[in-house]
Amino acid sequence: MDKDAYKALKETLLSQKKHGYDLVQAAELPEMEAYCRTYMTFLDAGKTERLCAAEAVRLAEEAGYRPYTRGMDVKSGDKLYLCNRGKSVLLAHIGEKSLAEGAQITAAHIDSPRLDLKPNPLYEDSELAFFKTHYYGGIRKYQWVTIPLELRGVVALKDGTSVCVNIGEDEGDPRLVITDLLPHLGQEQAKKPLASAIPGETLNLLLGSRPIGGEEESGRVKLAVMQLLHEKYGITEDDLTSAELEAVPAVKACEIGLDRSMIGAYGHDDRVCAYAALRALLDLAKTPEKTAVCVLADKEEIGSDGVTGMQSAAFDTFMEDLCDAQGVPVRACFEQSFCLSADVTAAYDPDYAEVYEKRNAALLNYGIGLCKYTGARGKSGASDADAETVAYVRRLFDDAGVIWQIAELGKVDAGGGGTVAMYMANRNITTLDAGVPVLSMHAPFEIVSKLDCYETYKGMKAVYQAEM
Ligand code: MN
Ligand code: MN
Repeated sequence: MDKDAYKALKETLLSQKKHGYDLVQAAELPEMEAYCRTYMTFLDAGKTERLCAAEAVRLAEEAGYRPYTRGMDVKSGDKLYLCNRGKSVLLAHIGEKSLAEGAQITAAHIDSPRLDLKPNPLYEDSELAFFKTHYYGGIRKYQWVTIPLELRGVVALKDGTSVCVNIGEDEGDPRLVITDLLPHLGQEQAKKPLASAIPGETLNLLLGSRPIGGEEESGRVKLAVMQLLHEKYGITEDDLTSAELEAVPAVKACEIGLDRSMIGAYGHDDRVCAYAALRALLDLAKTPEKTAVCVLADKEEIGSDGVTGMQSAAFDTFMEDLCDAQGVPVRACFEQSFCLSADVTAAYDPDYAEVYEKRNAALLNYGIGLCKYTGARGKSGASDADAETVAYVRRLFDDAGVIWQIAELGKVDAGGGGTVAMYMANRNITTLDAGVPVLSMHAPFEIVSKLDCYETYKGMKAVYQAEM
């Protein structure tokens, strides 16, 4: 066989996995940079699910979306949204075709791992005041000590009003922190496995050290802290019982690397896909063929349960209301629908090569990562998309010039994971997982590549614009 024939045969028959920067059009790069800048702004505005939902609503209204209420007309071209209890957002751009032809859905989540305050959080020990926390989602506890944290969230009062708490966002604000042992006294701790070296009950936020009142009094630092909280927010210690206050990293999104090719931030999981799904919907230039639906869900990190999670009937109710307005049974809509479950995946990390299977690992800068299945111990807990669905998305992405790769989350039996895909698939909606590869996932500061962010945005657009 001559050299040219060999080369042609190889190119025809063997997979050509190409680096994203060898595929991306130079003309697209400025657009990619601009997209990533707006994404970074979105991240800084939405450090909790509530803040993220509020920012999504703000952007949607700016793009002409109107709040949906049951009984409204639902006709082609309508742009509607529904915010579920301030923590999850459902949006729909009603398509040319009837909902009987199905919807093109993307579903991402806007909650991220963090430290929630306990219902009785405030205490004083050894003349230092602290808040007790209970971590939310799969964190590696040792990563959350000795880093600056902010406190964000709401305190709901008995009179039905609520107070927004924001300590740490403004430049002049103080920060909170969780302490750790000094190495000099940490020898026994250092012998422990990572998972047990920092017990959950030591994740206490340091709040203050300066007492008020006379020296004969006790609990003076705690009272001083409560006095400050009362001055700023008008709340008492009892009000903290009906609060959702979250300690999140006090760090803004920034470019990473000398080449500025990456973004470091708190909460890429899964706001990086949520923003792509939202932005792509808001950017649709014309009414899509099928109704385009974007779901920004809460509670994914703790199993998608609860009224604002993907297992909640809130999604079915929204879809059923839209379908009712067109005289379509929602079950008929679901069986014709497609959902891209948009959640991050693990990016291959050469420092920890042993947990990845390199042929089936998502690589940074190779585009949006498709996952046919997630799960653990033999795909358990995965919706495991069928071959036809993967073929459908291959065609969709290739036709739209989306740079993509397909991967698994780590080696067989190295661990595993899951997301909202199975809850969509269980509703009789054809579903495939896809998302941005992330380094240091679930850490207080996670890394993604700009190229992958932008290709994910293009992927979401391709889903909404699909004609079949
Ligand atoms: Mn996720
Ligand atoms: Mn996660």
